[in-house]
Amino acid sequence: MIEPIPKPAPSQRGAIGTIHRDTLPIFIHEPVLEDILDYSEQDPGRELGGFLLGGLYIDDSEYVEIRHFLPAVEAQSRAASLTFTHDTWAKLTREVDEQFPDQVVLGWHHTHPNFGIFLSAYDLFIHRHFFSEPWQIALVVDPQRQEFGFFQWRQGEVVDCGFRCISE
Ligand SMILES: [Zn+2]
Repeated sequence: MIEPIPKPAPSQRGAIGTIHRDTLPIFIHEPVLEDILDYSEQDPGRELGGFLLGGLYIDDSEYVEIRHFLPAVEAQSRAASLTFTHDTWAKLTREVDEQFPDQVVLGWHHTHPNFGIFLSAYDLFIHRHFFSEPWQIALVVDPQRQEFGFFQWRQGEVVDCGFRCISE
């Protein structure tokens, strides 16, 4: 069971990027976003990845709220590719069970060092196969260009999208 928390107040709902009205709103806590951006800059020479954990809320309105980030430390990483291995998934499952049993794996993160914000054909393969729930999301960070962007499912396609940052 996910413990319900109050919805972010309207004053905390400043949207960044394009919010599609027919998709699930994405909220992220500012310190978590900062952690992800810091982690992304640790090695600008190769792709890094991780997982977005948090709450999936389905009541009068649906939204996802990113509360934690887990680096995928043993993913196989190269200059322009990232492979989640069997060990990556096993460790993710174990860490969620042990440390975040009430959180949901909302999606994944990876970096594109100096090649911009998009999902490659291979990224789309990963998203379709491992993050196929309609509420699952992807975050791409370019640590060299200092850019990032979210992607989500919309009418069966994966599209770029905006989000809302919750400051503490
Ligand atoms: Zn990619």
